[in-house]
Amino acid sequence: MLKYIIITICVVGFVESFFWELWSNPIIPVREFNGHKVYRVVPETLEQLDVLKWLEADNDLDFWTDAAIYQNVDIMIQKDKVNEILNTFKEYEIQYQVMIEDVETLVAAERHAIENHKPSRRFDEIDWYSYYSYDEIIAWADSLDCGENVDISSQVYGSSSEGRDLKVYKFTNGSSDPNPRPSMWVDGTFHAREWISPATVTYFMNDLCRNPSNTFLNDVDIYVVPIVNPDYEFSTNFLVTWTECGEKQERITIHPLDASVLVYPNRNFEFKFGGNGTSNDKCSNNYRGPNAWSEPEVRSLAEYLISTTNSADWRAYITVHSYGQYILIPYSFDNETFPADFPEMENLATDMESAMKAIHGTPFTVGHSGSILGPTSGCADDWAYEVANITYSYTYELRDTGRFGFLLPAQYIIPTAEETLEGLKYAARFITL
Ligand SMILES: [Zn+2]
Repeated sequence: MLKYIIITICVVGFVESFFWELWSNPIIPVREFNGHKVYRVVPETLEQLDVLKWLEADNDLDFWTDAAIYQNVDIMIQKDKVNEILNTFKEYEIQYQVMIEDVETLVAAERHAIENHKPSRRFDEIDWYSYYSYDEIIAWADSLDCGENVDISSQVYGSSSEGRDLKVYKFTNGSSDPNPRPSMWVDGTFHAREWISPATVTYFMNDLCRNPSNTFLNDVDIYVVPIVNPDYEFSTNFLVTWTECGEKQERITIHPLDASVLVYPNRNFEFKFGGNGTSNDKCSNNYRGPNAWSEPEVRSLAEYLISTTNSADWRAYITVHSYGQYILIPYSFDNETFPADFPEMENLATDMESAMKAIHGTPFTVGHSGSILGPTSGCADDWAYEVANITYSYTYELRDTGRFGFLLPAQYIIPTAEETLEGLKYAARFITL
């Protein structure tokens, strides 16, 4: 009898845990990238550039970098389109090389690493050996205790299209208080597929919180947004998004009025909205949205920055992206227009680069954004400089230069974060001199 009772309990327990598993981990389609390859081409004529733009529009290709003349253009091509696209490259004498032989191999390795890392830690603990979701990062940041020397506070400055909190964390040692205080803004994860961005920005937050030698916090307040775009939540799971344009790798915000429309947030700022390097085609990777500020993630960030000028004397704005290893200086919108403060901005950028390179020898290209990568409009760095009047505005593009691209393995998080930390700290010290 006892035997039957035990068996019954076991069976009930098993069935219960099975359904609990199913309920807590609903089966959601995971995107496969089998046979997808990443090719690098360098358009050397305007005709070749046009061919790339036409290929992008007609084939739903995923451009990992924007097409610009004489620039490396990295393009992910689906398995079934590889032959056709390579034939077109040959026809127009576009030189190409393979950067990533099989995207799925890298994605699967990352997916595996994230899953294996999960059981060994608490939900609100993160480290820098794996990539984390929005929920995990925010739970960690909310539980940060910085002790007596550093004061951390957080604020919800808005809500994403899907209702997630947009959160900023402020680090200060407000012992001396000129008001407004010199302030620096650092944000990450505009683009959900740039996983190294939140990993690096959280490393910076952790250092601000725990490193007693950060005496610059006596003189400068640092505001950090680890995740500008909470759509990141889905990207770490490599899920499929179905849009009216077909399948998309998540990296852009979901438009609040229409979940099937994905907008590129770094084209949605009002300054020079709709200019070069943007598209009004909803299916383009550079879709700018129906109008400036259409995306709550973008509008709320800008409103918050502007609304805080009573307490914050904004002196630096650094937005952390990947990849390519650049420190980019406005303007982005044009390849010939330079800001009045460009020489000073370039000096600080060059010094930040030296500080970063000194750590692991990683070089970063420093220069004018519009000339280096080709014009892109409606961007955060241009808006921060021109409208928010923050002189030292930059875009960091972190590792690497294309070997892994957006799929940088987690083993590179710590070295990437270590070097980036030095650039950010250099800026924090510099702006109070
Ligand atoms: Zn980006």
